[in-house]
Amino acid sequence: MELFMPERVIFDPPSLEYPLGQKIYDYFRDKPVAIIKTGARTAARSIPGTTPAGMYAQAKKTLLVTINKLSKLDVCKPSADYQFSLVSNCPAHCEYCYLQSTQGSKPYLKVFVNLEDIFSVIEDHIRQNGDKITTFEAASLGDPLALEHITGSLAKTIVFFAGLEHGRLRVVTKFPHVDSLLDLPHNRHTLFRISINTDYVISTFEHNTASLDERMEAIAKLGRAGYPIGFIVAPIMQHENWKEAYDLLFRKLEERLGPELSRKELNFELIQYRFTAVAKELILQRFPNTRLDMDEAKRSLKWGRFGRYKYVYQKEEAEELKEYLTSLILGRFPEAKVQYFT
Ligand code: SF4
Repeated sequence: MELFMPERVIFDPPSLEYPLGQKIYDYFRDKPVAIIKTGARTAARSIPGTTPAGMYAQAKKTLLVTINKLSKLDVCKPSADYQFSLVSNCPAHCEYCYLQSTQGSKPYLKVFVNLEDIFSVIEDHIRQNGDKITTFEAASLGDPLALEHITGSLAKTIVFFAGLEHGRLRVVTKFPHVDSLLDLPHNRHTLFRISINTDYVISTFEHNTASLDERMEAIAKLGRAGYPIGFIVAPIMQHENWKEAYDLLFRKLEERLGPELSRKELNFELIQYRFTAVAKELILQRFPNTRLDMDEAKRSLKWGRFGRYKYVYQKEEAEELKEYLTSLILGRFPEAKVQYFT
């Protein structure tokens, strides 16, 4: 898969006062991209597009370089204690993406250049947790690996966490470009996961992401480089022939990891497909021919983290998904830990 190159890069002026802001500016100076300088609040005005689908497509080719002023981190259950962001959003076009409904009509990408401030907020949260291990998710609002060739900030964060006695980092990705991370001193403090799914889900809904093969190759490299590794199986869908398709997925994964990695302690997180009423409306505008099954009548309502009800599978179907996938995983990966199903 090719590295992402935006069409336009917007620099929020304060970002240029940071070394990383300057580094990104230098990186783009000789690239065929439009460079714009304007405040973060007015960034969206630089993005063209008249229809919802057009604005969405243009926003996904736009990168805002800015700073992250958050001093209090959100909790991130069940995957970690807290979440923080090096980037927000990503260049992929997953039709079901939960960011559809949280990032407005022009969901452009952002990178944050004030890494030292972000690290200091992380250290504060660890201190407040005393001697307990505190875990931090770096990829709940975007995919930092997708922009790593531009920022290098995920590598810096992995090294930062390597030196933290009580802090652990968690990252998940649908991108394959891990080579720059393999020789880092990670101290096994970063749990790296890839998102996996059936061929049907990846090819039908996950546009502009790495193929399953590329993802599996990337995670195997990370595993061989000594990182703890895992898999987020999401969104789990009961599509046609889903049982055979998930069986095939884990068979391929076992083959790809080989006997050595397959018998290591692998982390699995299982997330069933869900949607909200707001997301459904936006998805239908951006992907009018979507094949996502968004029939509310077939679903149960569950209260969601973003303050909205979400539609999930009915209790019996969800139970079947959980039991079936867990049995497939434990059948092939005896040391695996299935952390949760949600
Ligand atoms: S890779 Fe993740 S963040 Fe990016 S569009 Fe897909 S679901 Fe959303």
